[in-house]
Amino acid sequence: MIPTIQSKLPNVGTTIFTEMSVLAQQHHAINLGQGFPDFLMDRAITDLVNEAMQQGHNQYVHMNGLPALRQGLAEKVKDLYNTDIHFNDEITITPGGTYAIYTAFTTILQKGDEVIVFEPAYDSYIPNIEINGGVAVPISLTYPDYSINWQLVKEKINAKTRAIIINSPHNPSGALLTEEDLKALCEIVRGTGIFIISDEVYEHLVFDDKKHLSVLKYPELYERSFVCFSFGKTYHCTGWKMGYCIAPPALMQEFRKVHQFNCFTCNSPVQFALAAYIKNKTAYEGLGKFLQVKRDFFAEAMKATRFKPLPSYGSYFQLYSYDGISDENEKALAVRLIKEYGVATIPVSAFYKSPVENKVLRFCFAKKEETLAEAANRLINVQ
Ligand code: PMP
Repeated sequence: MIPTIQSKLPNVGTTIFTEMSVLAQQHHAINLGQGFPDFLMDRAITDLVNEAMQQGHNQYVHMNGLPALRQGLAEKVKDLYNTDIHFNDEITITPGGTYAIYTAFTTILQKGDEVIVFEPAYDSYIPNIEINGGVAVPISLTYPDYSINWQLVKEKINAKTRAIIINSPHNPSGALLTEEDLKALCEIVRGTGIFIISDEVYEHLVFDDKKHLSVLKYPELYERSFVCFSFGKTYHCTGWKMGYCIAPPALMQEFRKVHQFNCFTCNSPVQFALAAYIKNKTAYEGLGKFLQVKRDFFAEAMKATRFKPLPSYGSYFQLYSYDGISDENEKALAVRLIKEYGVATIPVSAFYKSPVENKVLRFCFAKKEETLAEAANRLINVQ
């Protein structure tokens, strides 16, 4: 008899990103769906990786991550958020931001624990919760500004609530949490046993002179938080799958127990390269402006189409509404745009457990200007 698997994720299929990217390839479409840059990363970093490999840095480094890289990150956090983080006790290098989030859930969740998730949500969150025995409690962000209704959050909290996951800058909407949001969160979790998982992978991708508000700036939040980051977003190397988690010592100690027997330690030469490159502040300080130019370039080109932009203040995504263009649901239109017009996007309905249809598609503008111009040009005649 061949063994059969009783699926731990019976409701999960292929992710929408893979589905759309495969379709985009088949139809030679411009891929503004999946979030990755189509331009080269800084050659200085790849040179540093080569150098590290040639110098023999090819064996396991410390399971928590290369100390020099963690030290560099602690200095960066102090500089950006004025928070003292101890590199030995509070930072672990991980193979990507998603892994950091997954590990945080594995660390804290027991069977039946509830986690509040704001939707539309990055698609790994709910499966990450469910595979760890937790129950996701989705709350829709308000449309069209994608803000949090904190009264609704209060109503959903009960004795089983174990965590709240937040994401700012937000994928897919480009919305940012405000000072008021973080204050509301402080009030809600004060005196409870609720953890916070804060997905801040787009921390540097913030536009229009707005500021990223990290939970690291709020001691009352940080004391119960796992804060997750990704080098992929900061240095235009999503394929490297490198990130890190910051959490207070007692939380990090448990996080590392899970990490130790799953990944143990991450790619060494890349860590040597990042440790050297992290000192280069301009690489991340200029990132918001760099992407803002792309957002605005694409928005200008899209004026020739009938799609209408919703505001994007961060991340490298912008939602465009097709209200008045078509009555199709979001996925149907996204598929048709690939097949008939050669442009791939992501339907925002895919970011909900039970699809919500607002006639919006997500476009990634982290692309060369010629790519963005050609995509907008192909969308001019959409009807
Ligand atoms: N969180 C969000 C909101 C993301 O958009 C992404 C990347 N798509 C990640 C986490 C994961 O980052 P990484 O590739 O480093 O796992």
